[in-house]
Amino acid sequence: MTYNKKGIEDIDVTGKKVLVRCDFNVPLEDGKITDDNRIVGALPTIKHLLSKKAKIILCSHMGRPKGEFNMKYTLEPVAGRLAELLGVKVTLAADVIGEDAKSKAAALKSGEILLLENVRFHKEEEKNDPDFSKELASLAEIYVNDAFGTAHRAHASTAGVADYLPAVCGYLIQKEIAVMGKALSDPKRPFVAILGGAKVSDKIGVINNLLEKVDTIIVGGGMAYTFEKATGGNIGKSLCELDKLDMAKDLLEKAKKNGVNFLLPIDTVCAKEFANEAEQAIYNTNDIPDDWMGLDIGPKTIKAFSDALKGAGTIVWNGPMGVFEFDNFANGTKAVAQAVAESGAISIIGGGDSAAAVEKFGFADKITHISTGGGASLEFLEGLELPGIACLNEKN
Ligand code: AMP
Repeated sequence: MTYNKKGIEDIDVTGKKVLVRCDFNVPLEDGKITDDNRIVGALPTIKHLLSKKAKIILCSHMGRPKGEFNMKYTLEPVAGRLAELLGVKVTLAADVIGEDAKSKAAALKSGEILLLENVRFHKEEEKNDPDFSKELASLAEIYVNDAFGTAHRAHASTAGVADYLPAVCGYLIQKEIAVMGKALSDPKRPFVAILGGAKVSDKIGVINNLLEKVDTIIVGGGMAYTFEKATGGNIGKSLCELDKLDMAKDLLEKAKKNGVNFLLPIDTVCAKEFANEAEQAIYNTNDIPDDWMGLDIGPKTIKAFSDALKGAGTIVWNGPMGVFEFDNFANGTKAVAQAVAESGAISIIGGGDSAAAVEKFGFADKITHISTGGGASLEFLEGLELPGIACLNEKN
């Protein structure tokens, strides 16, 4: 999917009321933000609007309040952190399209910032209700979508609102689609994709699409055992999706036909129980005893995968190589993170767990692009249209 959408520099925002959909869905512990990456990610767009003296109305979702006002999910901590980061006052409205939001939006002056309450306090948000979208749109004159993390959802604040206002993308979405779009349409070769995580079923579409584009595909993590079983291996009690064996065979066949090098784990760090402290043993991945399960890639696999990453031109990575939340089974994910960081390739991490892994192991600053959207980046890599981007105005 290639996009040619207007950005915030393609529209005159000077002095205008601009509604910006951000992804401020940050993790909280006891009401305190534990990771403000998503807020930091929205700053370039907000700073641009401030420099143009726009009247800025920000909105976002937070958690899953299930369509009801629930102050457990208030955006108040976000307003505080944003004000600290910008050095500018950020006013929080008590509602989204209610009296408070309307009067505060109407009174906004140039260079001021209003943050609406959690858009998911209304069930109409996730239903993409046209009346709700229209009400939201009536607060502003221009709509900017900068929430890449929810761009794969057609909700009122991510898509519906664009029916009623001139609609452009912010810097964050622009960057996400530029980097990932280039990787898919014109990658520096060799192009290597690494896929891992628990479920093959979540990633069949991505593998299928990438098999048209990459030179090498590396599959690790729990999903690798379905492929191994499909080729007749004994995988013990490792994760396996029996209803996906034929699909796995088809994907291996497609790789052969397309001349794509398809790498699976040669050896596996196994345990009898799913626990960090469990006794470990290393077995060949196609010969795991019945009462053992694979929880991480083994040393021969680490070497093979790392070698495949040396000299890569572009690397896309989504999903851990093992149960990296357990320190004793994190070695494979850490080694792959290191190999990606040291490869010198244009490296793109597709959000979610692999983003958490490169952060945890201290390689984040050596990665070209860490996507802010796990689900959205997967759908992008799958070649699907993202409604939150498709709804924006085309560049002339
Ligand atoms: P996903 O959401 O599909 O990307 O999967 C991420 C999860 O997969 C992480 O929580 C990992 O702990 C888990 N995972 C990775 N490898 C394995 C494995 N070999 N067995 C069980 N779970 C795994």
